[in-house]
Amino acid sequence: MSNKSKNDTAPVQEFEYKAEMKQLLDLIVHSLYTHPEIYLRELISNASDALSKVRFNSLTDQDIIDRDAELAIRISIDPKELSVVIEDSGVGMTEEELIANLGTVAKSGTLGFMQALKEQQKELDGNLIGQFGVGFYSVFMVTDEVTVETRSALPGSDAYRWRSSGQGTYTIEKIEKAERGTKISFTLKEASKEFAEEYRVEQIVKKYSNFVDFPIYLGEKQLNSITALWQRPKSELKDEEVNEFYKFIANDYQDPLDYLPISVEGMVTFKALLFLPKEAPPEMLYRQGDLENRGPQLYVKKVLIQQECRDLLPEYLRFISGVVDTEDLSLNVSREVVQSSPVLAKIRQILTTKILGWFETLAAEQPDKFKTFYKAFGPIIKIGLNTDFTNRDKLIELLRFESTKTGVDEYVSLKAYSERMGDDQKEIYYHSGSSRAQLLAHPNLEYFQNQGIEVLLLSDPVDVFVIPSIHEYDKKPLKSIEKADIDFSKQKKESENEKDKPLAANLLKPVLKLFRETLGEGIEDVIESHRLVSSPVTLVSGKDGLDSQMEKMMKMMQSDMPAGKKILEVNTSHPIIRNLAGMIMADEKNPLIRTAMKQLYEGALLLEGGLDSTTAFLSRMNELIEAATLSR
Ligand code: ADP
Repeated sequence: MSNKSKNDTAPVQEFEYKAEMKQLLDLIVHSLYTHPEIYLRELISNASDALSKVRFNSLTDQDIIDRDAELAIRISIDPKELSVVIEDSGVGMTEEELIANLGTVAKSGTLGFMQALKEQQKELDGNLIGQFGVGFYSVFMVTDEVTVETRSALPGSDAYRWRSSGQGTYTIEKIEKAERGTKISFTLKEASKEFAEEYRVEQIVKKYSNFVDFPIYLGEKQLNSITALWQRPKSELKDEEVNEFYKFIANDYQDPLDYLPISVEGMVTFKALLFLPKEAPPEMLYRQGDLENRGPQLYVKKVLIQQECRDLLPEYLRFISGVVDTEDLSLNVSREVVQSSPVLAKIRQILTTKILGWFETLAAEQPDKFKTFYKAFGPIIKIGLNTDFTNRDKLIELLRFESTKTGVDEYVSLKAYSERMGDDQKEIYYHSGSSRAQLLAHPNLEYFQNQGIEVLLLSDPVDVFVIPSIHEYDKKPLKSIEKADIDFSKQKKESENEKDKPLAANLLKPVLKLFRETLGEGIEDVIESHRLVSSPVTLVSGKDGLDSQMEKMMKMMQSDMPAGKKILEVNTSHPIIRNLAGMIMADEKNPLIRTAMKQLYEGALLLEGGLDSTTAFLSRMNELIEAATLSR
């Protein structure tokens, strides 16, 4: 490469991409095979953003370069030379912006997301790229070298040429460029020559970019139809069109799950078109529910003011995307004014109510859709319970749980539970743990299963922070089964079989006493159980203790938290316990008794995920097997 540009004496400067950027480019160039056509969507979308920005800036800045220029995107192609040029009259970039925007990865964590995705689906789909804020680089799917010539709209700006082959370095040089805006040019790889064909370009623009707010020209011909969908009455919206619009604004490759047109006139006036995605956005999956920087687009009188307006929705609803367009803000509002505007607060309040009503209708009328929604966004909605107290009751109605009476992936609401519970049942029971299988295997559930009492199975980690705070539903207290307050003895059926009868008090007492001696300080008490049916022992929380799942979560956050003491309940009808009573009568000193008792206790701990070391447990197990095999 020459060290001087042709008609200028300014030197060509070479820059090296940051390490993360190199890896990212490598991923894009070598792993993205499907949908190379989306490169055009991405470049048009960037041009459209640049045009929105300049339209917005020109409202307040009189001195902007080419203030009266037409706001448009122009594409030119040459099928013989395989060359493509995409030009916009948008804000352009200063030299610093060029370096910052096209030399680094803007969103932190992007590389991680993409690598994780690659591992998951082996072949990275080009369709996904827009979600990661790296859309520009998708051009390297179809070319080996790109030239970007740009001049910022800021008064007195110079123009620059950026050039890169996407392989570690890029160059920047100062050039002459009369108009503001950005021109991107490149030669297509042989394999991508279709993108220099007129019909193909037209097809792609129609498919992905029909909703761009500015005219897109191919030669003299305008390819897109500019329509503000959200301004149309509901009856004039066609699903197909609305779905395409969603994919365009949300950078999603799938249709939305559902959409909601809103038109409000009164204290505030606005129109909105909101979308519920089918799947959670990547940052929700990879950054644990972080929707900090999301939000619908804010338009004022059809002019885009903010791409992602966080203040339009409470955080727990920011997975919803779409457009909100109001007449009640002035066009030249600044971001700070938007944030504190009472108009926006009012819109947010109305949107929140409408959205929760929307979910309610989905639950009632389209249960399958609601289920898909709940599976993807249930955990986020639950967070709303602890942050949006005005809407708490509505959010509680939206909650769904698996239970001992539902199948896998089937849900029951608190309402349905409370309607079908027996007359003499006074409380709503839940059992929390890490998975459905683990929950169902737990001895504490035996009594409830035996009596046919429904128990909610909570396996979402968020549950323990949210559900106990509900306290009661329809005047029925919510209770962890560990702390259930029922008189177990009253309902227990008298057993016919002599062998299944509980131990007589004189035999039981020494068993409990020896258990207490053996387990010592680690345990609050050892008592006779009335809830167990087929297991010998179980652990329950002490009177003032936390539910064990709750305790586990708290410990994860605060590792030095002392473990609460538990009560060991002993099933006095169980053969093991009866045998132990017999062994005590014969010889209280028999070491096997203590070994067995420790083993029973640690087995119960293991089941709860509370056994810190398994070494002693295993060596004791071998000791017991040895004893058992010896006596045969
Ligand atoms: P994203 O658009 O998601 O931010 P890109 O990699 O596509 O990610 O673009 C990076 C940045 O480069 C954009 O945010 C924008 O600031 C700048 N940029 C890209 N194309 C243009 C353009 N045509 N005009 C002005 N700025 C642009």
